[in-house]
Amino acid sequence: MNRRTSIKTTTILGMGLGLLPSFKVGDKSEKKLGVALVGLGNYSTAMLGPALLQTEHCYLSGIVSGTAEKRLKWKEQYHLKDENIYDYARFDEIAKNKEIDIVYIVLPNFMHAEYTIRALEAGKHVICEKPMGMNAAECRQMIEARNRSGKMLQIGYRLYYEDRHLLAHQIAVEQKLGKFLMAETSLAFRMGRPNWWRMDLAKGGGGALMDLGVYNIQAARRMANQLPESVTAQAYVFDKTLYKDIYETYAFQLLYPDGGVSNTTTSFNAYVDRAHASYEDGWVLLSPASNGGAPVVMSTSKEMEQPPKLINLQQTAQMDAFSLNIQNGTDVTASAEEGLIDMQIIDTIKKAIASGKREEIKY
Ligand code: NAD
Repeated sequence: MNRRTSIKTTTILGMGLGLLPSFKVGDKSEKKLGVALVGLGNYSTAMLGPALLQTEHCYLSGIVSGTAEKRLKWKEQYHLKDENIYDYARFDEIAKNKEIDIVYIVLPNFMHAEYTIRALEAGKHVICEKPMGMNAAECRQMIEARNRSGKMLQIGYRLYYEDRHLLAHQIAVEQKLGKFLMAETSLAFRMGRPNWWRMDLAKGGGGALMDLGVYNIQAARRMANQLPESVTAQAYVFDKTLYKDIYETYAFQLLYPDGGVSNTTTSFNAYVDRAHASYEDGWVLLSPASNGGAPVVMSTSKEMEQPPKLINLQQTAQMDAFSLNIQNGTDVTASAEEGLIDMQIIDTIKKAIASGKREEIKY
């Protein structure tokens, strides 16, 4: 991959500024692909299940859950066939199921690598939720499994398919506002659940940095249209009863080869959601920028034509794009390689917190 151009975005005629990636208007799908959601927690329930009612190129054909009540509720709500409903003991039997083309891993972070690899080994295409794994080493194992399987792997980066994020990226790619100078990208919310896996280092991998910081890294490097070279980072705990082995608030600065810098604060103890990039000739602001349930709002220093208001959920575009990638043999935009880059940056942020020094990022 070209270090300066992390993502290739395809402009589509006839879609206004709908800069949808990796497939063109007119691309057709042979059939709707069957998706099985693995893990029926908050995200599956609030977002992915409803989004799969809006998708054009895939549909919810199966589920995997360890809870009998959830399996029954989903079966009734989504009219699922008994033979497409699994618990974890029967997970690998999915290999024999012809109605499941895509397995979508929506489990806690520490389970992503194992279940992604098992699903690829079962001969299925896989979507794995963010962050891709617990660290870059896990991501490399997942990429090797994908390569061995000949199947496709997408990371659940819904914002890679969101029109305003794509426009912001395009502004940087085309230097519409000149050279990138600086960005501020932050995301935080107050966590009300002390015993949730997100609060546990062994299960979440590092609190807000893993859960939310990944969005800030993506926004920063896509608005800079460069990969950062080095990082400085700080982390804080104020409430020691709640934050036992993770930090409460993380701050980090990414330094870019062309001289720009991005600054991020991410926390489980505040509210912020914005991505601001400054260029020689103006600025772009996305706020809210990353909330999965709310439309992204964009403002710019110079008036620019914006994409039409989003009708469907972000997750619909993400899953439809992947289904078309599979059926048309096109590149996955939110690829595993993109997931690996973010984990390489996160690993280096952790290193910089520990050392207190500026650390170089190795890709
Ligand atoms: P959640 O805790 O609500 O759901 C996790 C599910 O995994 C639960 O149903 C739980 O029962 C199940 N599970 C199975 N084995 C488990 C185990 N050993 N320990 C704990 N839970 C187990 O979490 P969530 O908010 O739905 O997040 C799930 C994944 O989705 C995470 O990786 C998260 O980062 C990601 N996510 C992505 C987005 C997005 O916008 N892309 C939004 C929310 C969550």
